[in-house]
Amino acid sequence: MAAVIVKGISKQYQAGSPVLLPLDMCINSGEFFFLLGPSGCGKSTLLRIIAGFVKPDTGTVSFDQQDITHMPPERRQATMVFQNYALWPHMTVYENVAFGLTTSGIKNPELDHSVKAALETVQLGGYDERRPTSLSGGQQQRVALARALAVNPKVLLLDEPLSNLDARLRDTMRVEIRRICKERSLTAIYVTHDRKEALSMADRIAVIDNGTIQQTGTPEELYNRPANRFVASFLGESNFVSGTLLPCKKGETVVETAIGNLTSALQMPEGNPETTVLVRPENILLGSGVAPNSFDAIIEGGVFLGETSVWNINSNGCRLTVTELGARQRRPGEKCRFSIAPENVVLLV
Ligand code: ADP
Ligand code: MG
Repeated sequence: MAAVIVKGISKQYQAGSPVLLPLDMCINSGEFFFLLGPSGCGKSTLLRIIAGFVKPDTGTVSFDQQDITHMPPERRQATMVFQNYALWPHMTVYENVAFGLTTSGIKNPELDHSVKAALETVQLGGYDERRPTSLSGGQQQRVALARALAVNPKVLLLDEPLSNLDARLRDTMRVEIRRICKERSLTAIYVTHDRKEALSMADRIAVIDNGTIQQTGTPEELYNRPANRFVASFLGESNFVSGTLLPCKKGETVVETAIGNLTSALQMPEGNPETTVLVRPENILLGSGVAPNSFDAIIEGGVFLGETSVWNINSNGCRLTVTELGARQRRPGEKCRFSIAPENVVLLV
């Protein structure tokens, strides 16, 4: 399995409107890597450049230190799985999976062995003679995955492969695809606009917006320590509170805000004292009177969602969203005390 290195890759389709500014990316061998970003940010373009379907304007792509920037797609040993499956309707499942192997000159018995093994991996053993049109969406996507796996690729590329499936099937396929990639130690690059998909499946994620990588990190790093407001909002519900850093003793970070002084366990880089504090709704805890970073607020409204409730609260004119575990009725106008642990007070530049 190959490590993938992208260096200085840029692309514009039309003069004056760049899709990708020169960007660098390093994907380890065997890593399950995600490109996450809003629709139109250039994720598919970057994936197609890695696959060889789109020519970059600048930069290089390497697989295991071999520069493949000018190598035709069919020689790269990178296979792609698409959102719309892209199966041949006139061929059987077996023929679809065998297609890539026969075109590269693989013959029986190796051919038969590889096709059967790939179909077993995606749990479609016994479906050889079926036509894609007689299968469900989930089964068709498994065939597409089997076809990509059968050629034993160096790199597996997946472009929103689950977007056409219903929610329940998507959940099952997430677990399944990750299992298959991990069992084979495949290097996989997976494109999605769905943060839950990325958070639940990825080893690491690159968040893309405005033609550049905003941040790269593990799901936990991106969710808990986002580098900026865009990454914070894209990865989950966010409360932003503006504040001013107070001059403090070494090793202590205190921000003056509308809801009081908030102590953060995190270091703030030197520079502008004006800052924005990020607090995730589930990190605002109800009713801890003596904890640091406590404040009073009025419940303005909320919704009961079963395992959680979401409250809109107001503290000194600052509106925040709070997620509370468990079913408990609270009335608008009720005054409560809240607190935030210092490690959950995240400062954004
Ligand atoms: P994403 O996959 O993140 O939704 P794309 O890479 O598909 O984004 O597209 C990025 C931008 O490039 C979009 O504005 C899209 O319209 C444009 N684009 C993509 N492919 C082409 C193309 N072949 N010709 C011209 N513009 C394109
Ligand atoms: Mg796309």
